Amino acid sequence: MEKVHLYIDGQEIISNKGDNLLHVARKNGFDIPGLCFHPRLTPTGACRLCVVKIKGRPGTVMSCTVNVEDGMEVVAFDEELEAQRRTTLAHILAEIEDSYNDKHIDELQPLIDRYDLRDPSKRPVPSILDKISRQIDTTSPVLQYDSGKCIKCFRCIKACDEIQGKSVLSMAERGISSYVVAGVKNWGTSECDGCGECIQVCPTGAIVEKPYLETIQISKIKQKVQTTCPYCGVGCQIEAWVQDNTIVRIRGVEDKLPNKGRLCVKGRFGYFYTQHEERLTHPLIRKNGKLEKATWNEALDYIAREFNRIKQTYGKKSLAGYGSSKCTNEDNYLFQKFMRLVIGNNNMDNCARLCQSSAVAALMRSLGDGAGTNSIEEYAQTDCLIIVGDNAAETHPVTSTYMKQGKRKGKKLIVIDPKITPLAKYADIVIQPKIGTDVALVNGMLYYIFQENLVNYDFVKNKVEDGEKMLQELRSIAMKYTPEVVKEITGVEPELVRKAAIMYATAPSAIIATGMGISQHTVGTNNAQALINMMIITGQVGKPNSGYSPLRGQNNVQGAGDMGISPTFFPGYIPISNENHRKLLASVWKVPVEEIDATPGLTMLEIIDAAEKGDIKGMYIMGENPVLSDPDQDHTIRALKNLEFLLVQDIFLTETAKLAHVVLPATTLFEKEGTVVSSDRRILRIRQVLTPPGEARPDWKIILDIAERMNKPLGTYHSPEEIFEEIRQVTPIFRGVSYARLEKEELQWPCYDENSPGTPTLYLEKFSTPSGKAKIFPVEFIPQAEQPNEKFPLVMNTGRMLNQYHTATMSRKSPYLNQYGNEPYLLVHPSDAEKYALKTGEIVRVVSPRGSITSKVLISDQVRPGETFMPWHFQESPANKLTRNEKDPLSKIAPFKYSIIRIEKIE
Ligand code: SF4
Repeated sequence: MEKVHLYIDGQEIISNKGDNLLHVARKNGFDIPGLCFHPRLTPTGACRLCVVKIKGRPGTVMSCTVNVEDGMEVVAFDEELEAQRRTTLAHILAEIEDSYNDKHIDELQPLIDRYDLRDPSKRPVPSILDKISRQIDTTSPVLQYDSGKCIKCFRCIKACDEIQGKSVLSMAERGISSYVVAGVKNWGTSECDGCGECIQVCPTGAIVEKPYLETIQISKIKQKVQTTCPYCGVGCQIEAWVQDNTIVRIRGVEDKLPNKGRLCVKGRFGYFYTQHEERLTHPLIRKNGKLEKATWNEALDYIAREFNRIKQTYGKKSLAGYGSSKCTNEDNYLFQKFMRLVIGNNNMDNCARLCQSSAVAALMRSLGDGAGTNSIEEYAQTDCLIIVGDNAAETHPVTSTYMKQGKRKGKKLIVIDPKITPLAKYADIVIQPKIGTDVALVNGMLYYIFQENLVNYDFVKNKVEDGEKMLQELRSIAMKYTPEVVKEITGVEPELVRKAAIMYATAPSAIIATGMGISQHTVGTNNAQALINMMIITGQVGKPNSGYSPLRGQNNVQGAGDMGISPTFFPGYIPISNENHRKLLASVWKVPVEEIDATPGLTMLEIIDAAEKGDIKGMYIMGENPVLSDPDQDHTIRALKNLEFLLVQDIFLTETAKLAHVVLPATTLFEKEGTVVSSDRRILRIRQVLTPPGEARPDWKIILDIAERMNKPLGTYHSPEEIFEEIRQVTPIFRGVSYARLEKEELQWPCYDENSPGTPTLYLEKFSTPSGKAKIFPVEFIPQAEQPNEKFPLVMNTGRMLNQYHTATMSRKSPYLNQYGNEPYLLVHPSDAEKYALKTGEIVRVVSPRGSITSKVLISDQVRPGETFMPWHFQESPANKLTRNEKDPLSKIAPFKYSIIRIEKIE
């Protein structure tokens, strides 16, 4: 970055060439006023308060519209400038209602006092407010707008456009009558999805949050706590405002990655579950078939007795556990320690198994690590982004804002998905293959890459194990995927496949981002592998802004895996067969090495299968809801009911908890300390914001209590930080991370020592495989085992909605989120609607070979003919009653994305 020297009021300042002058001045202590400027937005020059004089330029200039240059001499403050600012401010005040009600952040109020304009009689410009018609829009579920407080600074319009990429807002009318409008009429009928970016940047409180507007009193708020959003794997940094032990507002933290102020509707308005009346507040024990209130002592005694009884009667392998991607690293670390030391086996898993396990398996064997290669900012920087099987705008909303920013900069975007997703409208190429045909499609792209000679032979020769041999093997498979074959299998026009292949392979840098559409198939590992093969032979990895990132779902699904909630890996992805590491663990855990089981345990769905067969007799489920999230719901329920003992630890009485023998009340992420890991391997702090309700306890303490009661104490820990110190000792990729460093640094693993800055992009030097080279594994297309037939002629795909989250345990407790969609639906293509005489809004029965549910029909050309889509959030219409309990042979994931169904009319 070239440096320049400039002078502001005689003070020498060194800055980067091209930086914004107002920003540089403010950073160096010059408090130049200005209301339309925001560091995250392009300058507008609308309010004219930031005027300065620059030597060599006539008159005054708006500093927000000027970039610094070497030798620039600036006058920031003199009598003339201050007088001009006072008059300008008076003009602004003449058009608005400027009283302050202690309910919003207001950048205007301090300026009114600073320029002595509080007293209307001292204002040089009289008010014309009564001549302007005031527009008040209260139609949005989450915010309201008052044009009487709006200074027309354009920040909200620009934020919606430049930061969120949604372009919902614009200015209506002209001159003094102008006001901000959403869509063509109002917020309620517009495409606004409630992210609240406009609220975050509004300097006057013209746009404010609706929740708690009556009760909030900003001057009384003593606590503003920085923590991490509890929803998705983006890991947005939030600031929670607390009034009387209640969260009354959430704001994005402006200067912290991964989000830099941005949030989605869940992050900003999804916190109501914390104090919902249905929170579990005391332990429950099943007596005479009913869950009844119990003391912690009774519950812990019962748990210890039952786990010990089952161990003694059936052996230690008859018990299993689910860790939680909704809990902290510290909770999960202790959970796996409990399972390995107190229960004594590796029968444990977390919901990564049902999420990105296919991509993780393929990445691990090809590159050496299962995590995403890139940082979130790289989505805005890469020259070509291919997003496959991921509805990022709804499932990773803030990540999608970076993707859209890349597009604004002229980068290329390719969207591949059987369902047309919101990102498709930004894409250069949209490919809509038939569900479950990804390998054929990607091998078809490989065909063109070979045919057009776009292979990066240097990369293959130098960075790929047995590169030339594997390239030939891959070529011989790819050449079978001719345009005709690919069109027949995928339904995609060959020209689109060719264009996408060339765009990706010839880009200077390229990232592949994938979601559940790739992973959740019986061929999920092959799907991811085909893409990885393409990435390797084109050399689109091992350099900045290039690689492969499986976008992670839950906010700590990455961390739960990192902490060793796995039947085959210790913390840090060390195989359980690694003798040296077992010895290290044994010494840190102060147990004989033989006590640490080295035989692989059962995966998530294998545990449920074993429970149904009667091989697993007892389970400990921490913060998971398999009744809604696992495939083939009837099978899951049968399995859980077959257990002799089921312990569920959660924040609500979930569909799974209702089947338990003991339910323990745990705390939310707003009620404890700890860390989580985001989708881009960023270790983030969780900080306590609220006091837990009733007798709810943090998960880490509950685990310690149970171990103690079973006479197998796990150690003495006074805080999550002490647990983290132990995590560092046994997890090489975390060794350089500490709570102290996280206070001032942003760290992404691997971070091997205290001097390491962490690793934003993986594999810049070498791959993590034993040879340090990438590996190609050629894969062939395998047709789905289940095919549509006369009885079940349609295919059902499942997924998520923006405003709900997973099993909706948390999100449906927010009345604000619910207003954006709170009922199940089945998307049906217009041609199928006609064929089966269906109308939008009609309630139908959806039947698969596994069972049936009812749902409203929505006719939509977002899906292909013959294919349907259903969100899986709703317990009253559980999509997973219809899905298949089959498994990818390597990743052991289920094919949530492909179930044959029929639609029956309800008379
Ligand atoms: Fe929370 Fe994810 Fe939304 Fe960010 S994008 S606010 S982490 S749900």
